[in-house]
Amino acid sequence: MKILENHIIINSLKIKSVSSYYIEIDNLTCFNKLHDFINIKDLPVIILGEGTNIVPPNLFNGIAVKPSFTQIDFKDNFVEVGASVNWNFFVNHMINKNINGFENLSLIPGSVGAAPIQNIGAYGQEVSNLIEEVHCYDYKKNIFIKLTNEQCNFSYRDSLLKNTNLIIYKVVFRINNSNKLNLNYHSIQSYIDDNKIDKDSLNQKLLSKIICKIRNKNLPDPNIIPNAGSFFKNPILKENDIKIDNLSINDLVIWKLDNTYSKIGAARLIDLIKNKLNINENVFIYDKHSLVLITNSKASQNDILDFASQIQDIVFDTFNITLEIEPTVIIN
Ligand SMILES: Cc1cc2nc3c(=O)[nH]c(=O)nc-3n(C[C@H](O)[C@H](O)[C@H](O)COP(=O)(O)OP(=O)(O)OC[C@H]3O[C@@H](n4cnc5c(N)ncnc54)[C@H](O)[C@@H]3O)c2cc1C
Repeated sequence: MKILENHIIINSLKIKSVSSYYIEIDNLTCFNKLHDFINIKDLPVIILGEGTNIVPPNLFNGIAVKPSFTQIDFKDNFVEVGASVNWNFFVNHMINKNINGFENLSLIPGSVGAAPIQNIGAYGQEVSNLIEEVHCYDYKKNIFIKLTNEQCNFSYRDSLLKNTNLIIYKVVFRINNSNKLNLNYHSIQSYIDDNKIDKDSLNQKLLSKIICKIRNKNLPDPNIIPNAGSFFKNPILKENDIKIDNLSINDLVIWKLDNTYSKIGAARLIDLIKNKLNINENVFIYDKHSLVLITNSKASQNDILDFASQIQDIVFDTFNITLEIEPTVIIN
């Protein structure tokens, strides 16, 4: 276990952020010591992955814990993966082994350990469909906990693992050898139609390539343009509760979930109000995808949250819809 003081919190929004204490932990036997340190210091704690879905403050007067577990072990019909393995590296590893189900989640930035937290999802797949169990350590109670898929209580961009005292150090995935591809998502369908691709010629590798192409066209590379992916969740609500006024319901993007609830495309809501926003000199809406906020590497947490709250206020006034921030906002 390595304890560093005043250490940088790396984040894809490129906020200049420092944590009072930064602890790297690469061995389960050290968790006991970590528990004692956290108890003595009595400061807020944040667990860090690769920092692609956080909004940190300039100074986090707390303890940032960085797990460093990188094993990948195949056991019968399961694969056990250390929390700090890069997600896309792992996806490619599974594709190369012809293991099905991961290809639609290609190119999502971040670590394996963070994937269950918000139940990462894209292109018609969610990681909750692949997880068998999640192995964690409770740094407050000093105990190890193994959660089954069901106990994680996964839902859209959410799980029971959010805002807890749990450090995920290993995720166990089921191995599925079926060759059935998930091509239902509308942008995959459009890509196949537009490029006259024979569906029968597709395999996991080719589907992954298609998804990477679609993603690269629509989403900014955080290594070049600072961002944290979608900044807001797509709200789920009753269509009748939406205020339409001068618009038509057809101006919105709506995915019906059941007889009562629909998921509303937040990007379109932002598109429709973005000309009402005051300009922020450090934070902007990405021109190819309005759900993504980008920065010029000079933005502070406040700049980003102020801009986001302007968007939330105007969307609420216009549509009576509350937008929830997707990344974790780290507070002191
Ligand atoms: C360009 C771009 C595109 C994206 N596209 C998608 C997408 O398509 N779908 C999607 O779902 N997300 C997407 N995201 C969001 C992001 O990729 C995911 O949320 C990812 O899982 C974050 O991983 P991370 O390791 O960077 O986590 P971090 O940003 O470091 O942390 C995120 C949260 O997880 C917690 N956490 C991290 N590791 C652990 C651990 N080991 N134990 C306990 N808690 C932990 C943190 O405390 C924090 O609350 C995108 C982000 C970017 C920048």
